[in-house]
Amino acid sequence: MIMAPISGFQSSTDNHQSSILWLLLCGEMVPSMLAGYAVRAEDSRGRRYPEPPHPYRNPFQRDRDRVIHSRAFRRLEAKTQVFTRRFSDHFRNRLTHTIEVAQISRTIAGELALNVDLVEALALVHDIGHPPFGHAGEKALDAAMRAHGDFFDHNLHALRIVEDFEQRYAAFRGLNLSFEVREGIIKHSHDYKAAEHPQLTEYLLEQRPPLEAQLIDLTDEIAYDTADLDDGYEAHILTLEQIRAGVPVFEHFLRAAVRAYPDAPDKLKFNEALRGMLNRLVTDLITTTGSRLRSSGIATVEAVRAHPQRLAAFSPEVDEERRRAKEFLYQNLYYSSELGPEKLDAERVVSDLFDYWMRNPSALPGNYREKAASEPLQRVVCDYIAGMTDPYILQQHEKFCR
Ligand code: MG
Repeated sequence: MIMAPISGFQSSTDNHQSSILWLLLCGEMVPSMLAGYAVRAEDSRGRRYPEPPHPYRNPFQRDRDRVIHSRAFRRLEAKTQVFTRRFSDHFRNRLTHTIEVAQISRTIAGELALNVDLVEALALVHDIGHPPFGHAGEKALDAAMRAHGDFFDHNLHALRIVEDFEQRYAAFRGLNLSFEVREGIIKHSHDYKAAEHPQLTEYLLEQRPPLEAQLIDLTDEIAYDTADLDDGYEAHILTLEQIRAGVPVFEHFLRAAVRAYPDAPDKLKFNEALRGMLNRLVTDLITTTGSRLRSSGIATVEAVRAHPQRLAAFSPEVDEERRRAKEFLYQNLYYSSELGPEKLDAERVVSDLFDYWMRNPSALPGNYREKAASEPLQRVVCDYIAGMTDPYILQQHEKFCR
């Protein structure tokens, strides 16, 4: 039972500290135990604009909360992950995918005694730079930019969102996130070279990111490999026979589910198989990463950073299972004839609008017209389109390109 703290004539911070002490004495609150290789909030390299500490949230908890309260985060709800809303209200969108990544990442981080607050902030921000229409939108935007000698990259775009585009605070532009969160955005599934991206040198490009950031690449894949099998099956694009033949790890767990629940409906046996697969990937990532840390004698964040390879990893056996599942999804879902027409539509909508605003910059909203005075027009048009949700870009296409 939590008892009320004793309070006297104290400031609210003093009150807060005495209530923490009281909860600790009562055994109601256990200080989190971080491994030596975990990032500690108090060791953060800090924010671009220094801010006073918060009385009861550490810097990474504040970063997580700032991401959740941003506009770009809310817009993820109306951005495609793989399936547009046309298919079903039950399928993942980029927001629910993000929440699944956060859930899986928190579990793994807790088991490895990593900093769960940092991991959660990194998971919630990991897809914030994605344009509308999933991979097709990204491809079309990049192609449109390349025609002007430029390019689109969602990690770099995400960094611009959190550093510049979000305007919520009177004291600074952007979200003023901690260094470790910005570094994690830049090092998500990609190693940038300082020679090609001199503006990123502050992010220690020659070093590996901390384990908290390394995890996100792999949990992202655990989340989408399993979720896309689920949605693909529900959409009747993937059949059970196809998945059984193409994804051996799924077949293994389906057999077990059939033995355990012979009379259960097919979809529930399917769910049990998927659950077994998800659990195997998560457990393997925890045990393999843990044993790599032990065998390499890694005891500090500095050692993680200096290690020649990323340390978060699956075992070779499970990595092969993961690779086969991913390959199966590429062949049978992402490039399926059922999703083809929608992807072509998405590419057409993005490229039509891109060309329209390049030819008619005066039709851009006022704030983007202003930006075009100091930045290349293609970058301004690209930023505008990348921020859009699926329904909003369709509306704009209807308005300008019909
Ligand atoms: Mg993702």
